[in-house]
Amino acid sequence: MKQKRITVAIDGHSSCGKSTMAKALAKRVGYAYIDTGAMYRAVTLYCLEHDMIKGDEVNKPRLRRHIPKIEITFQVNEEGKSDTWLNGKNVEKEIRGMEVSNKVSLVSAIGFVRRAMVAQQQAMGKNKGIVMDGRDIGTAVFPDAELKVFVTASAKVRAQRRFDELLGKGETGINFDDILRNVEERDYIDSHREVNPLRQATDALVLDNSNITIAEQQQWLLQKYEEVVKS
Ligand code: C5P
Repeated sequence: MKQKRITVAIDGHSSCGKSTMAKALAKRVGYAYIDTGAMYRAVTLYCLEHDMIKGDEVNKPRLRRHIPKIEITFQVNEEGKSDTWLNGKNVEKEIRGMEVSNKVSLVSAIGFVRRAMVAQQQAMGKNKGIVMDGRDIGTAVFPDAELKVFVTASAKVRAQRRFDELLGKGETGINFDDILRNVEERDYIDSHREVNPLRQATDALVLDNSNITIAEQQQWLLQKYEEVVKS
């Protein structure tokens, strides 16, 4: 019998390892993986490159005019990893830096930005067989997803992980306290914005991964996935 294809929605706080587990599941079960945070990061990079952000203010009228010109795609690189492309340019490295991290929650709180991204995400997942991670996947993008997971961990643990990740990528001049502040600030803005705030879907399974290994969380997710597809 052909196994059913489902939608897997993984939401949670910043830097809690959502994408690591989402990617691993997608690879294991042959699903597409979409990192929706990368899409908001790419829009933010576009705003920075076009001088649309001054302090904490985004020039919304200009951004609104530019939104149809922002094309975000994902392409698999020679290492088999998915890179984010913005208008024909590979921006994977740039979107992960602190400049983008410091502004992304401002940009992602804008209603018309969210509507544009959500529409693209829904189109990407219309045939199911997808693992998508973000902040509003189980609540707004795919409220009918068959498997919803809400991941969290303490802010310190998450900041340490992001710090290690950036160090590992060869970033220089990074500071743990700046990263911790950024993680806490993004949690706050993401949970308090008007449009699609970060919150746990009532039917989501909660995973606090502060004290478990990556292998353990991947195993946990695979088991939940199997329970759903076999039900
Ligand atoms: O997942 P990541 O930390 O890369 O996301 C970057 C930012 O993008 C988040 O802090 C949040 O502001 C925004 N985001 C969002 N909705 C999503 C995914 C990310 O608002 N579905």
